[in-house]
Amino acid sequence: MWFDHSVRVVSPILKRAVYPCLANSGYLRRHADRGGLCVVTYHGILPHGYRVADGQQDGSLISAQSFRQQLRLLKRNYRVVSPEQMHEWLVGAKEMPDRAVLITCDDGLKNTLTDMAPILREEHLSCLFFVLGLSASEEVATLWYEDLYRVLLAAPAGSYESEALRFSFTLQDRVQRRSVWTSLVKKLSRCDATHRERHIEAIPGLFGLPDRWRTESANAEVERRRFSLLNVNELRQLASLGMSIGSHTLTHPVMSQQSSESAWREISESRRLLQQAIGEPVWALAYPFGDPASVGAREIQMAAQAGFECGFINTGGGFGASLPRYALPRVHVASAMTLTEFEAHVSGFYRELRSRIRGITA
Ligand SMILES: [Zn+2]
Repeated sequence: MWFDHSVRVVSPILKRAVYPCLANSGYLRRHADRGGLCVVTYHGILPHGYRVADGQQDGSLISAQSFRQQLRLLKRNYRVVSPEQMHEWLVGAKEMPDRAVLITCDDGLKNTLTDMAPILREEHLSCLFFVLGLSASEEVATLWYEDLYRVLLAAPAGSYESEALRFSFTLQDRVQRRSVWTSLVKKLSRCDATHRERHIEAIPGLFGLPDRWRTESANAEVERRRFSLLNVNELRQLASLGMSIGSHTLTHPVMSQQSSESAWREISESRRLLQQAIGEPVWALAYPFGDPASVGAREIQMAAQAGFECGFINTGGGFGASLPRYALPRVHVASAMTLTEFEAHVSGFYRELRSRIRGITA
């Protein structure tokens, strides 16, 4: 709490004054000499013509322009390594070069193929894409927790009760809808994928919305690029463009909420299905959501048991961070980041600042 408050107060100053100054003076570049490896994680590109509906939901996807600028900055100041180089380092075949940055992207939305891969190709870079087991199928799927968020935003204000979920809640403003969403994501992560899907299908009815509550918009193609997952043909296309594929589990639950049986299936079965789909070994796993509340010792152990060479979390990244093989930290890129703020994260400066403020305010 203290930390969040402190950061909110100083954040505009950091963005407008401190980061630009540290970047221009070369301090951030030197800061990266603390060594190690920096892994950056994206969640896709906002397709051209897409209107941001919700800052929170769309906040992990960035514009094509920002993506290009960030890649160019990485190429200029650091050494962007390919997923193959990362793999060679993991198995002990080769050393990692100094100032190495690995680019990754989670979820496998369609825009990774239509909007992101072309930019990576133009910049002669490769990325490790963490996709769901759902993308090993010909069917077109979406992310269940995004569907849930959209239906919660569309629901009329009021008080509701779901007997099936044993949950009563009130929907009013956006902040409150988001907190209901967080509780429901946790609850629904306790079910296996089939039960979860059944619950989600029943939710529009709870609000008096028809099953197909979302009318096809005039911008249907853009919407699909924003919200739909790659299907198996598109996944193969992405791989054929020189991109590497990792697993992000079968259906993206909060892993810590799952039964051991379900968690094991999510981790091991996704590896099997994806390997079968692309005909290549799948050696890396990124835990869904990837924060300390959703990944624990059990998931880390399962990742190793399932045959992955490494596992990635979503926090604590930047140079100088320790690199546990099955909990490799990453820098989570958000659309609100300025370019110099991005470099403050990559260089490890932000992580150190955060731990210092924590030390002061603890
Ligand atoms: Zn994800």
